[in-house]
Amino acid sequence: MTTTITETYGVDPTPTPLALLLLGREADPNSERGVECPGDLPAASDPDLVERARAAKAALGDRVFILGHHYQRDEVIEFADVTGDSFKLARDAAARPEAEYIVFCGVHFMAESADILTGDAQQVVLPDLAAGCSMADMATAEQVAECWDALTDAGIADVTVPVSYMNSSADIKAFTGRHGGTICTSSNAQRALEWAYEQGEKVLFLPDQHLGRNTAVRDMGFSLDDCVVYNPHKPNGGLTVEQLRDARMILWRGHCSVHGRFTLDSVNDVRERIPGVNVLVHPECRHEVVAAADMVGSTEYIIKALDAAEPGSKWAIGTELNLVRRLAKAHPDKEIVFLDRAVCFCSTMNRIDLPHLVWALESLVEGRVPNVITVDPETEKYAKAALDRMLALP
Ligand code: SF4
Repeated sequence: MTTTITETYGVDPTPTPLALLLLGREADPNSERGVECPGDLPAASDPDLVERARAAKAALGDRVFILGHHYQRDEVIEFADVTGDSFKLARDAAARPEAEYIVFCGVHFMAESADILTGDAQQVVLPDLAAGCSMADMATAEQVAECWDALTDAGIADVTVPVSYMNSSADIKAFTGRHGGTICTSSNAQRALEWAYEQGEKVLFLPDQHLGRNTAVRDMGFSLDDCVVYNPHKPNGGLTVEQLRDARMILWRGHCSVHGRFTLDSVNDVRERIPGVNVLVHPECRHEVVAAADMVGSTEYIIKALDAAEPGSKWAIGTELNLVRRLAKAHPDKEIVFLDRAVCFCSTMNRIDLPHLVWALESLVEGRVPNVITVDPETEKYAKAALDRMLALP
């Protein structure tokens, strides 16, 4: 009998086409929050957009601090005061208390994290409220509460420690904090899991099954059989009580629609096309892709690896396309290609474009603070507890 990836990992092998934008033009209704921009959103064809963004930023001076996630468009990155991954950006914002407005060019959960980590006097602005994250949206507070009830009924909640990826909503981070767990990033997932297994016998890993599985199996010597996938759309997660009791790692059935798109065929194909190529992928990729790659690491790891690479070396990179294209431009002495033949932007990251940035900045100049992201105090308290546990990891 042939076992499919869906049976093994609970992943639909066909990524949702709407979740991926060709050239950033379409939309992912599952990730959008359907909010319109009050006032006039400048037309993308306005020839003065760059000048308008410059003028608005200059008028705001130190009152505004613009954060640009690595996966943002070039036209937006050009105006970022700092670039980085979500956690680095949230910390950078916290280190700038004089900035009244933090304009977060990224997605919703990142802006929430920035609000949690910045001072009360600072306001976090997301230029387009439709910039959600399909992975973060795969775990809702209600679903996770039901899962915890299932673990309680199975008699294992007391020995299970939640570990949530940074790419999760503030509600999920708060759930994690409330139940004694920690947040992790793709750089420190192994340390977070090692800590969690010192506190309990099992881990509930949210919401990215791939990062959880890859870290447990590739980095910590677990077997695939030690892991089960909890499907929030099925009663009891689609698992028997015995399966829950036997598992060491309970993975939430969530994934990134960008990184989940790469397949073993993508790896085999690029190796055939470019002899001697080094395949470097993000740990949000599927397990068989990570197993077939030469190197695996976070966005920051990928950037550093390419900085350190020999001139003339060849690289196929499995992460978001805006970043890969910028890296290829920054290293003309190396051959850097995207791992897949098809283009693959993050649709929701691409929602933030220059018109939205201009609209947000000009609104601030006019004294209107648009699209403020706020996390309520109770949620913030527990989410911060989980983030603080991560910061205290050895
Ligand atoms: S790249 Fe994946 S995890 Fe990151 S924002 Fe887009 S959908 Fe979410």
